This record gives sequence, structure tokens and C-alpha cells, in this order.
Amino acid sequence: MLAIEGIDTYYGESQALFGLSLEVGAGEVVALLGANGAGKTTTLRSILGLTRPRRGRVSFDGRDVTREPTHQIARAGVGWVPDDRRVFPALSVARNLAISVKQTRFRSWSLKECFEVFSALEHLMARDCENLSGGEMQMVAIARMLMGGPGLVLLDEPSQGLAPRIVQQVMATVKRLRSEGAGVLLVEQNLDTAIEVADRAYVLDRGSIVFAGTAAQLKGDEALRRRLLGA
Ligand code: ATP
Repeated sequence: MLAIEGIDTYYGESQALFGLSLEVGAGEVVALLGANGAGKTTTLRSILGLTRPRRGRVSFDGRDVTREPTHQIARAGVGWVPDDRRVFPALSVARNLAISVKQTRFRSWSLKECFEVFSALEHLMARDCENLSGGEMQMVAIARMLMGGPGLVLLDEPSQGLAPRIVQQVMATVKRLRSEGAGVLLVEQNLDTAIEVADRAYVLDRGSIVFAGTAAQLKGDEALRRRLLGA
């Protein structure tokens, strides 16, 4: 679903990613781990063309999107939930969701299906987003992405600051996306949450991949986790 080959990404003259390669298959959940500043968000921004790689290639769904504009990449079926959620604060939840519906070649979730995973959402529809809690806003951000017909889902620290019950709902959504054949790239600070749900994991350190393997490998090897993540 996603293939990144040898990308170098810069902010001005400062290089943030060094020859980074990774893959996410259809029906696969892949965790992207690493310390603060390792380059996880920059990797997501590079996929979306928000911070364009200077070298290397990004392919989505069999097509080279390295030079495509961000809106076109989104319209092709790359769904993104940024770490700051970015809902429209002055608009109601219903309006935020309605303007997110897109037709892609992948399945768009219906409102009803979003309510099935986030039951609280149904009762928030008339509220303006600026009056929501962080957890409620995250539900809106995820529902919006689901209604946009994603084939690949980029989640930037989706459980950050959320109550355990909502984290569970987010992870249930990730599992359902996988069972439906979407690819999920999950940036997560909470290592336990990430390796519980992920099939494979990459660990980034200062812009380079220092580990690529199965989540089970990471889960079963505390010394490896400590070495890679200080966890
Ligand atoms: P965090 O968990 O803190 O979000 P991260 O792994 O997502 O960390 P990035 O945000 O991708 O890391 O940052 C990678 C590197 O790029 C860091 O050295 C960071 O200081 C730098 N960086 C990130 N955004 C910018 C920017 N807008 N301008 C300049 N440098 C940036």
C-alpha cells in the first residue's frame, strides 16, 4: 500500500531524515517508534508532501506520489490524523464530518459506523468543536479521516492525552481498518499500546531507521527495547 524508498527530508538546510525506507502492506498495522525529535512526524509529512523529500521516492497504491500535491495524495486515499487534531473549531461536529466525506477507490465509513466505534460521538453532533475535550476532538479527527475513504491511515500519536477507554476505542478502530484491508502507519509514544496492536515496527533514531522487525520481536526482547528506546 505504501513504499518509501531512501528519502532524505530537510527543514531548510537541516536534514531530518537520512535515506529512510519503509513499507506498509494492505491489511497491515506498522508502528513507527522513536524518541522525541527522531523524525516520526517528518516521515508522515514526507508521505503527504507537506515537507517534500529532496531525494528518494514515495509510492502509494502502486503509484509514485513523491511530487504530487498534498490534496491529490489525500484524495487518492491517504488519511491523516495529525497530533494536534486540527478540527475546524468554529464548526459543529456534524459540519466537520460532513465536509470530510470523500470518494476514493477505498471504502468510506458511514456516520453510523463511526458511532459504532465511538458511541459518544452521536451525542456531540450539534456541539461546536471548540467546546470539545481533547478526547472528544480526537474522536472527531478520526471519524473525519474514516469518512474520507482511506486506503492508508497515518496516525500521529492518536492515544496521547486520552482516557484509557477512548484509547481502547481508537485501537479497536485500527484493528477494524486492518481487517478491512487498509494499511495503518501508527506513530505512538506508548510502546505497549503500539506493540499490542502492530504487526511490525520500525524504530527511528535521529532520522535513520535502526530497527525493522516484527512487533513480537520487540515485545519479547526487553534488552532490545531498552537499547533502542530506553524503554
Ligand atoms: P516528536 O515525538 O517530538 O513529535 P518526532 O519523532 O515526530 O518527534 P519530528 O517532529 O519529525 O520528530 O522532528 C525531527 C527533526 O526535525 C527534529 O530535529 C526537529 O527539531 C526537526 N524539525 C521538526 N519540525 C521542524 C520545522 N518545522 N522546522 C525545523 N526543524 C524541524
